[in-house]
Amino acid sequence: MSSILSTCSRAILEVLFPSCCAACGHKLVQEEQTICSSCLAAITRTEHAIIPNNGIDMLFAELMHSEKAHIRYVHGAAFAYYNRERGQTLRSLIEKGKFGPHPNPQIFYLLGRLAAQEYIDADLWDNVDALVPVPLHSSRLRQRGFNQAEYICRGISDVLHIPIDTTHLVRTYNNSHQSQSEFEKRKDNVKDLFVILHPEEWKKKHILLVDDVITSGATMFECIKKTTPIRGCWISVFALGWAHN
Ligand SMILES: [Zn+2]
Repeated sequence: MSSILSTCSRAILEVLFPSCCAACGHKLVQEEQTICSSCLAAITRTEHAIIPNNGIDMLFAELMHSEKAHIRYVHGAAFAYYNRERGQTLRSLIEKGKFGPHPNPQIFYLLGRLAAQEYIDADLWDNVDALVPVPLHSSRLRQRGFNQAEYICRGISDVLHIPIDTTHLVRTYNNSHQSQSEFEKRKDNVKDLFVILHPEEWKKKHILLVDDVITSGATMFECIKKTTPIRGCWISVFALGWAHN
């Protein structure tokens, strides 16, 4: 009886409040969830996960060179473009997911899962011991209610069964909203922003650091630099979007 009622109430709710695509607002059909299939198809993939020495690898190679940092870097990838020319659909999804009137973690979960499903055989995930989301400061976390990077990790983890580690890498203080700042400003902004607790537990581990968007790479690079004293700790990076022009 209760299952009939819940089926009926779901059907009524669906008529009263049809689910709409988080990107384009069109009504979703039955097999679609949160994002419609046309919008998913319109996301411009970078194919980084299967391209050695891709744009993200080059970006981190430059950062290592310019800062003379000795980092055990393995591989990096962004799932799709996030710039004005080729990244409008992803931008719209990420902005609505984070800043809209109803921030929606499901968008990040679904996109993380999609990336893992599409590139399931890519070297990027090989021998990764833990997925580590770039942490949000606690005040931003309270405000939004979730860390989008953690939801991306959940999506990836559901496909690839790699554990998620949210306990070792922590953020020390808040910094201002900085998506448009140039690299130097960002570098100062993120200096000493992160700390690794119990670093010995990352010895001989391969960590895949995950964020929603890579712009200058400064935020992730600050996280990565904290791993340099940890013996045998190897780092790869992944983001949904690459804000490259
Ligand atoms: Zn759509």
